[in-house]
Amino acid sequence: MLSRHAMAATFILLQVSVFSPAFAQTGQLELWTAASSAAPSGLITSRLSPKELDRWKGIERLVFADNGNHQPLHPTLRGMWEWIETSGHVVYVEIMRSKRSATCTAGSFSIEYFDPKGERHIGIIKLSLANIDQAYVGEGTARENGFIPFEGLGKEERYAEVLGHELAHAVDILTTPVSAKMVEVKIEKTNEMLLSALPRRKGDSLSSELKTRLSERDKLLQGLEKRAEQMEYIVWRELTESKTFRDKARSLSAGR
Ligand SMILES: [Zn+2]
Repeated sequence: MLSRHAMAATFILLQVSVFSPAFAQTGQLELWTAASSAAPSGLITSRLSPKELDRWKGIERLVFADNGNHQPLHPTLRGMWEWIETSGHVVYVEIMRSKRSATCTAGSFSIEYFDPKGERHIGIIKLSLANIDQAYVGEGTARENGFIPFEGLGKEERYAEVLGHELAHAVDILTTPVSAKMVEVKIEKTNEMLLSALPRRKGDSLSSELKTRLSERDKLLQGLEKRAEQMEYIVWRELTESKTFRDKARSLSAGR
């Protein structure tokens, strides 16, 4: 479900309910621009505390797990991670510390700095581990294709699934300068116009230009979300299929 009038904050562009209303989990895509300083490219963890970095390292190990024969167990997830690493763009990783249940966001991808030359955009992937831990898993959250997010997955595997979703947004948006520009123009500008049209008196209607822009923005957001959900499903399948192997490998190494 797409929230059509995400006006609560200037930078909230996409709010998609992922889970049951009881836990009202949402994924958010945010975009805004800000001044930035030079930084190395790839996934950057400098914004994590030492404790958060430990947890991130656990997720990283899962992403890069192989079958003992250099065959990746999660090629899609790993492929997206490696794409970011070599893209020349910067994607900060952050772990949301707020436990406000009202937001209940599992994860988000946002653009912090839009490089007009398209060479070095700066994005942020945020994960809310606490919200992911508490997420309801069941029929009520099934997607159109019957896929139930997180089904059968352990703690860290759930984080990896959400990471897969947000990495898919990052790759999708950063892949070409055109698509990043399109996101900026269609989404950010539309939101600015929408906000500057407020406050309006009751009964005032939006201009037809703004209405057209809004429907184009929503179409773009729905497309982005659909692709991220498809990638998330593939990541979930990889995590599910590798589970037996990983469990066996773990019990073998524990028994040594
Ligand atoms: Zn999303």
